[in-house]
Amino acid sequence: MKKILYFLNLLILFTQAQLRAEVIEHEHPVVILGGGVAALTSAVYLSRAGITPLVITGPSIGGTITQSSNVQNWPGEISISGSELGEKVRHQAEMNGAILQPETVVAVDFSKRPFLITTKKVIGSGEDLMYYRAHSVIIALGSTPNYLGVPGEVESNGHLSPGVYTCAVCDGSLFKDKVVAVVGGGDSALIEAEYLSNIASKVHILLRKAQFRAGEKQRLKEILSNPKIQVHYNTTIKQIKAEQGQLSRLLVEDSDGKNARELSTNALFLAIGAQPNTELFRNQLELDAAGYIVLKKHQQTSVEGIYAMGDVADPEFKQAISAAGDAAKAALQAQQFLASHPASVKKLQALAKAEKEREVRGVIDITSKDQFLKELKKAQGPIFADFHSTHCGPCKMFSPVYDDWAKHYGNKITFLKINAEVAPELFRDYLIQAVPTLLIFDPQGNVIRKSCGFHEISEVDRRLTLIKAQAEIAPHDFK
Ligand SMILES: Cc1cc2nc3c(=O)[nH]c(=O)nc-3n(C[C@H](O)[C@H](O)[C@H](O)COP(=O)(O)OP(=O)(O)OC[C@H]3O[C@@H](n4cnc5c(N)ncnc54)[C@H](O)[C@@H]3O)c2cc1C
Repeated sequence: MKKILYFLNLLILFTQAQLRAEVIEHEHPVVILGGGVAALTSAVYLSRAGITPLVITGPSIGGTITQSSNVQNWPGEISISGSELGEKVRHQAEMNGAILQPETVVAVDFSKRPFLITTKKVIGSGEDLMYYRAHSVIIALGSTPNYLGVPGEVESNGHLSPGVYTCAVCDGSLFKDKVVAVVGGGDSALIEAEYLSNIASKVHILLRKAQFRAGEKQRLKEILSNPKIQVHYNTTIKQIKAEQGQLSRLLVEDSDGKNARELSTNALFLAIGAQPNTELFRNQLELDAAGYIVLKKHQQTSVEGIYAMGDVADPEFKQAISAAGDAAKAALQAQQFLASHPASVKKLQALAKAEKEREVRGVIDITSKDQFLKELKKAQGPIFADFHSTHCGPCKMFSPVYDDWAKHYGNKITFLKINAEVAPELFRDYLIQAVPTLLIFDPQGNVIRKSCGFHEISEVDRRLTLIKAQAEIAPHDFK
């Protein structure tokens, strides 16, 4: 009996070791964390240098810049929407060979080499964890601006309402000769106000306290003597009000809750700080008092082989172009680092290339009803159709997940994509009233399932995970 138990134990240990080895052995020369302009720029540089990077994009491909409707300070573009800019850089990175993975990093272990990165899918239950080993890591997780948390500040999709901004250099030029307001009592509020005073006809600064926290005394002196700037001390914003979809007034009161009143303004710039997305790196990398990653030489962090750039390591400038510039440096530094380990990199390159070749993207863009009907006729198994529109934020988040599904299940399921602007007749035929909507058809063209929005689509992701080992996938698996 003892002998049997002994062998049973050995078997369990062996199986566990096998399972662990199976899940962990995705090894890459470079893993880039983030999917904003910084991450994608590094990806372009590395791919072009013959090093295929794996990019863990997180929920937003293109990153924060996609929230801007009009970018006017990106070299070579007089005016471009942030979404289009993000899409262009994504395309450039993928075209050059980068592998984009729509997953969120949930943990890192930089204590041993190769470094370990744990992720989960950006949608779905998040039960399945993925593990990657990396010889070098580039971090570009950005930062999250602080919001006031008052009514009228954000829209239902979580984006800032029209007229509310977090960057004067980016959006100030829209308010030439108009009245604007800045909220905040630190140096960044002063900088924003000073910048805006050269454009707007009047700038209100609102701060909760009786004095500024700002350290730059000379700047404060200039602000206080600037005839275009009016400072409202001890003032709290209670609500942001809009007329015809555009910000028009702020409901404010004294910080002691008295004297409620309205202040007319065409825009509000939030200058109340930002949180760098560095919680994951606490106790792994050196961070400064505000949580930003400390850089040693150029983009190198406190650990050799790990680099950081963009808003996650830049408390001061926070611009797309400076993030991209630093990203180029980070990629070049990572290249130099890897050059000192040529043998392992060669082997990993071969692995990464093989992985890339295994990818079947297989999403078919539908441009007409005729084409759609032909695809339905051709299909053998279930047909997925992603109804989306060009400017919908959640659609952009779902798109890489959909590509990922196609990569994994493309040989069992047909994946179609239908854009509202390209084939509106299909939206009418299938009564699509919100995007993204996922319709699942059987090969006879019957709708088996309709899922609207991220929450309902997550359930499909869960089903796919449950049936992924099945040799065949049938339409009724999604009923
Ligand atoms: C409304 C607005 C307008 C702006 N306009 C301009 C402008 O006109 N010009 C300009 O130069 N700058 C502008 N900026 C600033 C600019 O957008 C940022 O400085 C720049 O995008 C920073 O790039 P980044 O790649 O460092 O970070 P981000 O673009 O913030 O990217 C962070 C990335 O990290 C990913 N991520 C986050 N957490 C995780 C995780 N746990 N796992 C995996 N991935 C994760 C996200 O999905 C995202 O892809 C604007 C900013 C805002 C908010």
